[in-house]
Amino acid sequence: MALEVAWAPALRDNYIWLLHDPESEETVVVDPSEAAPALAATEARGWTITQVWNTHWHPDHTGGNAAIKAATGCAITGPAESGRIPTLDRVVGEGEAAAIGGYEARVLDIPAHTSGHIAFHLPEAAMAFTGDTLFAMGCGRLFEGSAADMFAAMRKLEALPPETRVYCGHEYTQANGRYALVADPENQAIVERMREVDALRERGEATLPTTIALERATNPFMRAASVEELAARRAAKDAF
Ligand code: ZN
Ligand code: FE
Repeated sequence: MALEVAWAPALRDNYIWLLHDPESEETVVVDPSEAAPALAATEARGWTITQVWNTHWHPDHTGGNAAIKAATGCAITGPAESGRIPTLDRVVGEGEAAAIGGYEARVLDIPAHTSGHIAFHLPEAAMAFTGDTLFAMGCGRLFEGSAADMFAAMRKLEALPPETRVYCGHEYTQANGRYALVADPENQAIVERMREVDALRERGEATLPTTIALERATNPFMRAASVEELAARRAAKDAF
C-alpha cells in the first residue's frame, strides 16, 4: 500500500507534512513548527505519531518537537546543526537513512540555508522533503551558507528522479513565481505555471507538492547556470 500524505497548516505559511504508512501504521511528522496542529490533524485521521523528522534547526521547523514527543513518545530524527536541536533522539547526515515502515528515507546533506540542513528522499515513494532549501520556484535564504553551497544543493536535488514529488517547508510559491517571471522572462513554463498557481491560491489551496521536473523547468535558482548567477538572483530576490 502506498504512503499517505497530509498536511497541517501552521504559523503564517508553514507546512507540517504528515506521512502515514497504512501497512506498519507508522506516522511521521516532518518539521513541526507547532505541536497542536500536528496532533489535531493526525488524531482526526486516526493516526498516531511515531516519529518526527527535522530538516533544520529553525524554530518554525522544530518548535513542536518537545510537545509532540511528550504527547506521543515518538522518536525524533534530524541533522546535527551544532547541537541546536536539543530534542533529537538520532542525528543523521549524508549516506544515512531514516525509515517509515518498509520505506527508506535517504538523507542528503544540503547546507546553505543553515549549516546542517538535510533533505529526506524516499526513492520507492518518489518523495522528497526539502525544508527551506528547495521551494517551488525558489530557494531558501543564505543564512549560514554561501551561494556556492546552494548551487551544490541544487545540483544534488536536480539529480533526483524527475517524477519525485517535492514537499517544501513553506507556501511561498506565488511570491517566488513573481520573481521567477522577472529572473527568467523568456520562460513560458513559468508563465503557464503561474496561471495554475494563481488559480490555486485564489481558491485558498496548496500549491505543493511540486516535482523535480517542474523545478528544473521553472526554478530560477535550480536553473542558474553558475554560482555567480545564483548569487545575483538570490540578492535580487532578497530585494524584490
Ligand atoms: Zn528555515
Ligand atoms: Fe522555515
